[in-house]
Amino acid sequence: MKLEGIHHVTCVTADAPRNVEFYAGLLGLRMVKKTVNQDDPTVYHLFYADEHGSAGSDITFFEYPGVPRGRAGAGMVHRITWRVGSEDALGFWEERLGAAGVGAERDDGRLRFQDPEGLDLELAQVETDEKPLLALHPDVPSEVALQGFDGVRVYSRQPDASRQFLDATLGFTAVSAPLEWEARGHERSGAYAYDEAPPERGRGGAGTVHHVAWSARMDEHEAWRERVARGGGAPTPVIDRFYFRSIYFREPSGVLFEIATLGPGFATDESPERLGERLSLPPGFEALREKVEPLLTPLPNPRERAGAQGP
Ligand code: ZN
Repeated sequence: MKLEGIHHVTCVTADAPRNVEFYAGLLGLRMVKKTVNQDDPTVYHLFYADEHGSAGSDITFFEYPGVPRGRAGAGMVHRITWRVGSEDALGFWEERLGAAGVGAERDDGRLRFQDPEGLDLELAQVETDEKPLLALHPDVPSEVALQGFDGVRVYSRQPDASRQFLDATLGFTAVSAPLEWEARGHERSGAYAYDEAPPERGRGGAGTVHHVAWSARMDEHEAWRERVARGGGAPTPVIDRFYFRSIYFREPSGVLFEIATLGPGFATDESPERLGERLSLPPGFEALREKVEPLLTPLPNPRERAGAQGP
């Protein structure tokens, strides 16, 4: 039983329209689902990914309009890294980000920058046999497009405390224990690495990561729950998120983990061609549509605009 790398990374935004412009407009990802936070259906849960909404490419945001900026600290993800295919791709993004007024720092096969709310992001040139997970954007040639996640970096004061759990319970591979790990499945892998936590306490809020989810096969999900429980991870019951099923727990360094299933996927309630165009509400929430839709912030559709202008 192996976790197939990262499933999704979920973050917080205070400004959904600007968030859409950045991730779907500038970074060229596809908005594959526009739904509501199942724990608070008056706010959005936005999903950006490749063209198919594949696990491994999916960055999601809870929208809390006006929430203050947070700050990553011990027990939180502080950087998200996507793969790109070449040095040329890094050059393309350095220029595209710069033209949009986003400063980026290039260093040794990597390009670091921040989203509009201060979330640390990175593109890394990575040689891999894994399938590139590409979104189509008229201004982003596919040979330079983001190819899905490479991994996340987290802050910890005591990464050694997580060693046993990552190794024996989650089956992560130590790249250089206790700091660098990898969840390597049959098809995909995802990196998980620790950095020394800053002295200030972390604080959730805009521009921070809420949790990172790892991918499991549908038929192995229950078994993962049992394994996490046996390993002392105190998992939640299995929660049906409609697009996938989930369990949540904290790894010993405090980072909120989810294990999510590789199905049924985002085309469950929309055709693959129309993903993310309308507000999707899981069956239990459909009755709220009339009440909820007028409360949600109106969102731009950068893909439509870029398409209309032509390349
Ligand atoms: Zn999640």
